[in-house]
Amino acid sequence: MDTMQKKSRNHSKLQQNFMAAKQMSLTLLVDKERNKVIYAESGKDFVEILLSFLTLPIGTVIKLSGKQSKMGSLTMLYKSLEELDLEFPNTKACKDMLLHPKSSAEELYKNLPLIVNRGATYRTKYYICSLECCVGIHHLVSTVKDAPCLCGKKMGWRVPEEKGDLNADGEDGVFIEGKMRFMIRDDLKISVVSSWKSFALLKKFGVSDTSVLEEMNVNVGEEEVLHLLKRLLLSKTPLTDVFLGELNVDERVDLDLKVIALDSEEMVEPQTEKEICTEYSKKMIVKLYQNKLNKKVLYAEAGEEFADLLFSLLAFPLGSIVKCLGGRTSMGCLDNLYKSVEDLNFKDCMKYEEFKAMLLDPKLPPYFGTKNQLLQIEEQAPCPMAFSRVMRSIGLSTMNQKFPDAVTELGGSFVAGPALFMVTDELVVKPLSPMLGVSFLSNFNIPVSDIEEQIVWMGEKEAMSLLGASLISNSVLTDVFYHKRPRQMETKPNRRMFSAHDFI
Ligand SMILES: [Zn+2]
Repeated sequence: MDTMQKKSRNHSKLQQNFMAAKQMSLTLLVDKERNKVIYAESGKDFVEILLSFLTLPIGTVIKLSGKQSKMGSLTMLYKSLEELDLEFPNTKACKDMLLHPKSSAEELYKNLPLIVNRGATYRTKYYICSLECCVGIHHLVSTVKDAPCLCGKKMGWRVPEEKGDLNADGEDGVFIEGKMRFMIRDDLKISVVSSWKSFALLKKFGVSDTSVLEEMNVNVGEEEVLHLLKRLLLSKTPLTDVFLGELNVDERVDLDLKVIALDSEEMVEPQTEKEICTEYSKKMIVKLYQNKLNKKVLYAEAGEEFADLLFSLLAFPLGSIVKCLGGRTSMGCLDNLYKSVEDLNFKDCMKYEEFKAMLLDPKLPPYFGTKNQLLQIEEQAPCPMAFSRVMRSIGLSTMNQKFPDAVTELGGSFVAGPALFMVTDELVVKPLSPMLGVSFLSNFNIPVSDIEEQIVWMGEKEAMSLLGASLISNSVLTDVFYHKRPRQMETKPNRRMFSAHDFI
């Protein structure tokens, strides 16, 4: 065989490997009559993709879903940040950080190509000003190109990263080891294969005549992974939606969103400003402007710390949201997926115990925390592991992009202050303008005499309610302060809703 032939054979083998990495196959057991997936059977590759969803920040899912995302009020929050004037975030990087949040599990994604592609996540790039510059003990590293270095120059030189995958052959899993096969129910409950479970599922779905069943092999590529990610948060039947759905799955709205059970204590009583000031220092004051007849909040007026708290929710990984809300987010099948990881069946196949913690309690990546976040999700310490050994040997310190100056410690906030903001009931956040308040009244056709002001405080409990409501409701502030449970999101609202465009 001549060299040319060899080369072309190698090339086509490489290409095959590349294609194999981009596609995986899945066997579905389908009820033909009802056009429904009973369950899917797969190896660990597909399950690992599903598990990795728990480490993705909610802001990433909103970004990927675009205008079609129907995730409560978080989509409005995301759009508000996109439109927010650059003078308000502490640095330009702050806005970018929350619009394109990172995952603390990023290092593992290099073995999950289907997750990395399509902008779901990307490898962080690091920059320094030059190898010669050494102000202080360590070289300063920035994740933002051309950030100012301590020496005054721009940091524009890209630091080489560690090469080579954790398991380049792709044989070994990311989270899971061994050759176990898995059953994935349509509602994304995952377990190791079991005949008993299979028969139990058939009974559950009332299938006695097995002739209605059909085995179906499907390929899973980037497109399907992206759809699954979106349907995971909206639907109770993501596998059916993605693999059997005739409709554009993005256009389908589920009517079975159940309301979330929040703290059943008495609703938060409005207090006087003086009372509030003597409260625990971590609480923040929020003024609500509401219709006194129906206690519907029109908007809230608050300082930069409230805007900061809200925007920082976008960096929360899905798994941490489920954990924060005690496994009851009511978002599609997210709770089921989370519960599957908790399930003991995974005990023997999870590669490392830490990976289980990474999925069930994912941390924020370094510098993605803020002092104003009342739900203190743990923040990962800056880690130099991503750099090549040579670069690590010269000593590097990453910069906290939330500060305009060279700061390497954690802390700080995304939104600069002092500043005042208005936040609508569906979480449109804008710099405060009394004229906007007036336009609210005319848009909703409410007489000035019906408006009252209430002062409330935001503490950890309220922040938790707010997180829960923001996922599924479009009247978040009313739900947090006047309802024990957020109301189900209206799919066809009969009242006119405010949108970011009302302010233009
Ligand atoms: Zn320098």
